[in-house]
This record gives sequence, C-alpha cells and structure tokens, in this order.
Amino acid sequence: MADRATATLRFYEELNDFLPAEARKRDVPIVIDRSRSVKDAIESVGVPHTEVDLIVVDGRSVDFAHLLRGGERVAVYPMFEALDITPVLRLRPRPLRDPRFVADVHLGKLARHLRMAGFDTQWANDWDDDEIVRRSAADRRTILTRDKGMLRRADVERGYFVRATESEAQLGEVLRALQLEALVAPFTRCRECNVDLEDVEKAEVIDRLPEKVRGFYERFKRCPGCDRVYWEGTHFARMQGVLSRLAGATPSGG
Ligand SMILES: [Zn+2]
Repeated sequence: MADRATATLRFYEELNDFLPAEARKRDVPIVIDRSRSVKDAIESVGVPHTEVDLIVVDGRSVDFAHLLRGGERVAVYPMFEALDITPVLRLRPRPLRDPRFVADVHLGKLARHLRMAGFDTQWANDWDDDEIVRRSAADRRTILTRDKGMLRRADVERGYFVRATESEAQLGEVLRALQLEALVAPFTRCRECNVDLEDVEKAEVIDRLPEKVRGFYERFKRCPGCDRVYWEGTHFARMQGVLSRLAGATPSGG
C-alpha cells in the first residue's frame, strides 16, 4: 500500500525547452512514491541535471540528493541564469574562467568555430559517449551536445545542450549562454588541430600565400601541429560578424 502523493515542479527560463509543450511554464505534478530524490524527479520529465543550477523546495535551496516526500513546491532554475542568487546553494561551478570543451560527434563545425574564437575544444568524428564523458571528467571540459540523453548520465557534471541547429547560430548561442563573449580571442588557435598558433614572419611563409593575400596582410601565424598558415582574412571577418551581431542582440530570457 504505497502512499502516493505528488510534488509540484515548476521549471524556469530555458529549462522549459526540455518539457513537452503542455508542461511548459506551468506547474508540473510529479508522483512521489514514498520518497524520491529531487534530481530523479527533475530528470523524470526530461530535464538533464547538467542544465540545473538551483533548486528551491518550499522556499529553501537544496542539493540534488534532497528527498521529496510529496506535497512540496519545487522551483528549478537553469544554469547561467543571471539572477542574483548568491546567498543560496548553487549546484554548478561558477561560470568557467578557463573554458574548455569537448563537442560530440555531430558538432564538428561548431568545434571549429569555437577554436577559431580561441576556445580549447576537443572533437573527433569517432568518439563514443563514453570517450566524450571521460574527456570531460579528466579535463573539466564542458560537453557540448544535442543529445539530451548524454547529459542525463549520472557521471556527467559539465554539459550544455545546444539548441540551435546551424553552426554559426550555435557559436553565438554558446558564447552568449556561457557568457564567453569577453574571452573570445580569434586568430590564436588552429581550427583543425586545436593547438595554439605561433607567430611567423611574412618572409617565411610568403611562398605559400595566395597572390591576393601577399599584398593585403602583414600578420601571419602558423600551426605547429599541421603547419597551416593563418592570416586575418575571411574567417576572421566572419568571426567578427558573429561577435558584433551578439553584441547588438538583446539577451535572451527574462
Ligand atoms: Zn593545425
């Protein structure tokens, strides 16, 4: 004779992206069979724990292990939500000061864009979920994925679910959501190898430059991994375009 009761969950801001349409931005009743961890209750409706930064049960912030017994009101807030919640218990590390990423196999273009923006982003087209999770844990890398299932794994601590489907929009989304705009450093990292570029004299690479580049650019860098030569050309201009569009956009949420 289980004593069945319900707790009422309410999800805020972009956490609603994970809910079925009929459950968005309203109270969601969750059946509690004797007791259930608040983490389990949250994930039972499809919201990955990696997206959650703050849980408030009946006005008090709690951690994932908190047990629900029925009758509670639970407010669930997303990571990176710009609320002033300093006095309460945050479940996630502070926004990353030295952000590092590992992107899942479907996000190769985003990985290259992030490298072009200067961010250390590991990616390969043949890594399975276990390999990606292992790299995330080993190096405190934030997993970037469009696979919600991966972010629900208990062994994933840092992850971000990418909403956009087009790679430049994904770059803009990640920079804005993780508050990375000020850390962008284009022209510093190889988009293929993910290693730091080295300065190189124009004279050393001039034989390898296309005709029009020889006359137009003076600063060059070289990748010590693959020997590619970089200059502040079209990719750089595109990156600047993405960044200025971000700067002009109104922040999402609210
Ligand atoms: Zn390279």
